[in-house]
Formats: sequence, C-alpha cells, structure tokens
Amino acid sequence: MRVVLASRNPDKLDELEPMLSPLGLTLESQAQHDVPSPAETGTTFVENAIIKARTVAMATSLPAVADDSGIVVPLLGGAPGIYSARFAREGASDRENNDKLVASIAEFTNPVPAYYFCAIVFFSNAEDPTPLIATAAWHGTLLHEPRGANGFGYDPYFVPDGFRITSAELSSEEKNRISHRGLACNQLIVQLQDQRQGQSSDPQG
Ligand code: IMP
Repeated sequence: MRVVLASRNPDKLDELEPMLSPLGLTLESQAQHDVPSPAETGTTFVENAIIKARTVAMATSLPAVADDSGIVVPLLGGAPGIYSARFAREGASDRENNDKLVASIAEFTNPVPAYYFCAIVFFSNAEDPTPLIATAAWHGTLLHEPRGANGFGYDPYFVPDGFRITSAELSSEEKNRISHRGLACNQLIVQLQDQRQGQSSDPQG
C-alpha cells in the first residue's frame, strides 16, 4: 500500500520509515507530491495531526499518515506543547527554543517534570470518518544544562524516567524503541493490523 507521510521534513521520513516497516508500506513524502503544508490551527496534538493527514489525503487521493509532537511542561501550564517547534518564534532553531525553555524553568531549582507527547493519525482517504489515532507520552525531567549530542530539539535537556542520561545520550535505536514516537508508532501498527484483519474477515469485503 502506498501511503503519503504528511511532512516536508526528510528527517521525519527517515525516522518513521523503519518504525512503520512491519506494515510493509511504501511511504512517500508530501514534498514528492508537491503538497503545501497546511496551517497547524488546532489546539491539541491530535487536532494538528488530523489537519496535516487529511490535507495530504485530500490533495493526493492516497492514504496519509501524520504525526504531531512536542514537549509539555506542566509547571509552565503545558508550554511549549503544540508550539514546541516554534516556542521562541516562528521558524526558530533548536538552540533558540532550548534557550527559551531553560530561561522559562530557571526559577525552579528541583528537577522539572516534563513529558514528550506524540499523536499519529492515519487516514485511509480524505473522507475517512474513522481515522486511526495513536498517542503516547514519554515522561521524564528537565535539566538546566545540556548533555549529549544525539537526537534533536529538546533532547539534551530531557532525562527520561528510569535513566540518568538525557535522550540526547541515547542511541537512536534505543530512543526509537522507548520514545513517545516509537510507542505511538507501535500502537498505530497494531490498529492498522487489526483494521486489515477486520477487512479481510468481512464477509461483504
Ligand atoms: P512537529 O514536527 O510539528 O511534530 O514538531 C515537533 C517539535 O517538538 C520539534 O521541533 C521539537 O522541538 C519537539 N520534539 C518532538 N519530539 C521530540 C524529540 O523526540 N526530541 C526532541 N524534541 C522533540
């Protein structure tokens, strides 16, 4: 089955392709299909993932998958949340976003609880009334100083629960196995496999 990933970011395709490989999909990118990215006008990760996937399914007439993710700091009222990629400003670099995060938590001396969150949505077509929705959280605490050079985004500041190292010190294989994105992908795989099984055992189908 051909599926379009609703992202123009080649790194995201590289990351999600191996995670979704058990499904035997041919994952194509939104850029290949020349579909402009919609405005992410939702107020939740799930809403934004739905907006992205539905837009791409509509423009390509193919099934589409989209993820939306970010880091949530309850002591900051949930910020950066859905604005994680643009916390410091629209088009901000990881460095600018990280600087703003560190400044925002400076008043807290104890470890600051935080969690990454990922929503992944699959539309079999643009009118699909029952898109598959998988969500997962990855809990941990934030440091005030960066550590590690792997990963991206807020990883140098995030110490996952059960670890003494940051997610920027984990190998990509280990991170993908336990991260919010890895967990949400695994759920989506199970949901898609169930859906396929249901369709193949449907006496009408
Ligand atoms: P998205 O591409 O719109 O889903 O934006 C995700 C943003 O959330 C990224 O730009 C990062 O700032 C942050 N983020 C999401 N997942 C991770 C992660 O695994 N590590 C570090 N930062 C992440």
